[in-house]
Amino acid sequence: MKVIGVYMDRCLGCKTCELYCGAERGSEGKTLLAAVQETPVPRPRVRVEGGPGGAFPLQCRHCLQAPCLDACLTGALHRDEKSGMVIIQEERCIGCWTCTAFCPYGVIYPSCERKIAVKCDRCLYMEKPVCVDVCPTQALEVMELDEIEELLGEKRQNTTKALAGVGREGIRILDIGR
Ligand code: SF4
Ligand code: SF4
Repeated sequence: MKVIGVYMDRCLGCKTCELYCGAERGSEGKTLLAAVQETPVPRPRVRVEGGPGGAFPLQCRHCLQAPCLDACLTGALHRDEKSGMVIIQEERCIGCWTCTAFCPYGVIYPSCERKIAVKCDRCLYMEKPVCVDVCPTQALEVMELDEIEELLGEKRQNTTKALAGVGREGIRILDIGR
């Protein structure tokens, strides 16, 4: 399964990914200029947490054991067999927001005006997700999950060594920087 990996050391916290995601996925006009003039402001499906020196963009992780799938009352959330991703079938969503309470990452959002929940689907209809495309520092990359697991494995080993006395680094989820 392909997922969006994050190189945390490259993220500036500039929120370019948020802005363009909102324009592409939440705006009628599909441009930044149109998006900033719309009310309500279009909702992005990626959220940048933290600030300079410690920012990271967060979007659906397409969890292998996804609590949102079990929580969904109507079966609107399902796993797409081909891509392996967790997808919302919009016509089945009743806007009860149960899934938003169960996602441990807080990355399903209520779209109150559309009365449905929205989340990242990796812009499946595009060659490259818009956030990956626009990031000025290439902090985001579409990668195979196995590839990320491998990088994380290396990182965990380095962190364990560091914690053992060589140095001190925090463990950061999905930070695939070396
Ligand atoms: S566009 Fe890139 S650098 Fe800017 S906040 Fe998003 S991931 Fe970070
Ligand atoms: S919406 Fe949340 S719980 Fe569901 S797959 Fe994505 S990250 Fe996991």
